[in-house]
Amino acid sequence: MPHLLGKLAIGAQAMQLTRIGYFSDFFAYPLLIAVFAVAGVSHAGVAGAGSWFAIFLGGLVLWTLLEYVLHRFVLHHMPYIKQMHEQHHRDVRALVGTPIWFSLALFLGCAFSPLLWLADFATASAASCGLMSGYLWYVGVHHAVHHWRPAHSGYFYNLKRDHAMHHANEACNFGVTSRFWDRVFGTSRASRPSHPSR
Ligand SMILES: [Zn+2]
Ligand SMILES: [Zn+2]
Repeated sequence: MPHLLGKLAIGAQAMQLTRIGYFSDFFAYPLLIAVFAVAGVSHAGVAGAGSWFAIFLGGLVLWTLLEYVLHRFVLHHMPYIKQMHEQHHRDVRALVGTPIWFSLALFLGCAFSPLLWLADFATASAASCGLMSGYLWYVGVHHAVHHWRPAHSGYFYNLKRDHAMHHANEACNFGVTSRFWDRVFGTSRASRPSHPSR
């Protein structure tokens, strides 16, 4: 049992990132997305550019569903990962996150490689760019809602309040970039009206 607790503690610590590790997503993913997009659209050619963009948008939309499913069922229930996420819930400003080598391995191993094998480079790059753009938007929004003080209206402020509601009640608001899938699956909770002095 102490051995297991030790492993869990190590698992949680692995998600406590260094500053470079935590912010590497914000530098590496834009670069990767740009390289994949240029290479992918070049490969698709003028005739295939429209399809490339449609698949890209499909990947982006698919990400919003993955964001919901991963947060609800993986971050809150899977051993090891649950420990990491609990650490974030306890200390929202700690540099806790998914190491870039892990997220990148998932995108390349579960999306890019199978699609390259099943379809072609244009399809694989478009879907991967869409998924990675969604992920980048998610980590950016999640950082912003915990570290920025947005004006008391607008997209970021509403997301900040929605996510604060998730931190207060872990059974609701699993979407970070929107509450769309929470509304679909019945886990959406509106945050209370803002206090004028906050
Ligand atoms: Zn959070
Ligand atoms: Zn959570």
